[in-house]
Amino acid sequence: SAIRLQDPSLLRQQCYIDGAWVDADSGGTIAVDNPATGAAIGNVPKMGGTETRRAIEAAEAAMGAWQAKTAKERAVILRKWFELLMANQEDLAVIMTTEQGKPLAESRGEIAYAASYVEWFAEEAKRVYGDTIPAPAGDRRIVVIKQPVGVCAAITPWNFPAAMITRKVAPALAAGCTIVVKPASQTPFSALALCVLAERAGIPKGVFSCITGSASEIGGEMTANPTVRKLTFTGSTEIGKLLMQQCAATVKKTSMELGGNAPFIVFDDADLDAAVKGALIAKYRNAGQTCVCANRILVQDAVYDDFVARFAKAVSALKVGDGLESGTVIGPLIDDKAVAKAEEHVSDATKKGAKVILGGKRHELGANFYVPTILADATPDMAIFREETFSPVAPVFRFKTEEEAIRLANDTEFGLAAYFYGRDIGRVWRVAEKLEYGMVGVNEGLISTEVAPFGGIKESGNGREGSKYGIEDYLEIKYLCMGGI
Ligand code: ADP
Repeated sequence: SAIRLQDPSLLRQQCYIDGAWVDADSGGTIAVDNPATGAAIGNVPKMGGTETRRAIEAAEAAMGAWQAKTAKERAVILRKWFELLMANQEDLAVIMTTEQGKPLAESRGEIAYAASYVEWFAEEAKRVYGDTIPAPAGDRRIVVIKQPVGVCAAITPWNFPAAMITRKVAPALAAGCTIVVKPASQTPFSALALCVLAERAGIPKGVFSCITGSASEIGGEMTANPTVRKLTFTGSTEIGKLLMQQCAATVKKTSMELGGNAPFIVFDDADLDAAVKGALIAKYRNAGQTCVCANRILVQDAVYDDFVARFAKAVSALKVGDGLESGTVIGPLIDDKAVAKAEEHVSDATKKGAKVILGGKRHELGANFYVPTILADATPDMAIFREETFSPVAPVFRFKTEEEAIRLANDTEFGLAAYFYGRDIGRVWRVAEKLEYGMVGVNEGLISTEVAPFGGIKESGNGREGSKYGIEDYLEIKYLCMGGI
């Protein structure tokens, strides 16, 4: 194979349905390649509606026994899965970098991050508490219990090929649900490797299946099938809206983690070195391809030139390269469409008056590489102010007052993550409260952790992943009224 692994059995070119490794009914496959080199990695089955239905039926058949296990029994199995993920961290990271492109250090980090959700929800499984409520009449008692929502379906993106799966599958399984996952076609091998380890951990057949193939056919069946009680999705707002519409016909619950347009605000009293460090991680992690990436850097007038100079110095030192080469900080983008979008944003911005401080062009390393870019004098009429760029392009906007910064920051239909740097404690509270976002980093550029609730407001979606809140997305509340006492 094109990937060298300590345990070659982690690389599977078949799907995992009802505890068995299988090909598509039609025998069709999808080729997967390495975005850094264009080299072929392998093929995965091109499945559709029929195989999806089979996986859903298996999930339904497995539901009773899985739900009937004690929380502790489910926790022990999840814990085992967590340990296997960490024991195979290096192989999983190599698979991820090869199919996704991110630097190996970031892939190792993502595997640890992905595993942390499994560990966390193994623990939370045991803490699904109900309520007793004082009744309005003496002969009654009121109790609230929590139960798993049932069979779930998940559709996940390519930018975090492992973590976006575990933060859906782990809480679902902890709650007693079963789940069918469709990973992105660009990064299926990471998903299938997670299944290999889930199987070894003893997750029973049918409880967790994974199918690759046609997004519209698999998504169509997942959303139309009445057995599926919940759809959880991470991806673009455009596809999220479509899936919500499709789910309406059978009134499924949905959790939607959609696009962002994160502001990164630097006030004039900020620690500029800290702000530069925060901006580097918030903007350039995964080459700018995360939904919480800083999309618009807003800097107050008095520190604008100083910030841009320091930021440019730091960004010019970032090493671009193949993610498997040591020292690489910026890998390739996922495909040529992603590079074309970066080019469009830069050319639109420069036409409207932005100054290229750094980059602004493709990288000589190859088709999917783009030079880390800083645009100064960016203005709100530029497309990059409105659209998530998902690329290593950082536009820097100028503002004068706190009110203006908040207005600019909130001037978007998105509401996922926001960041700001400043020291004045009164302003810190005012700004934190006024930002219309689900997550706010204050003097911090890296906010994702399994212990905190990840999610957005407005058109960035609904539901929360991780933390004590994350398991609630997979639980129904049932109210019991006991009379005649
Ligand atoms: P991105 O721009 O990050 O690729 P998408 O929303 O297009 O975001 O993709 C996220 C996930 O949604 C992927 O697994 C993709 O295959 C899937 N997807 C894309 N189109 C559809 C669709 N019509 N129905 C269901 N899933 C889809």
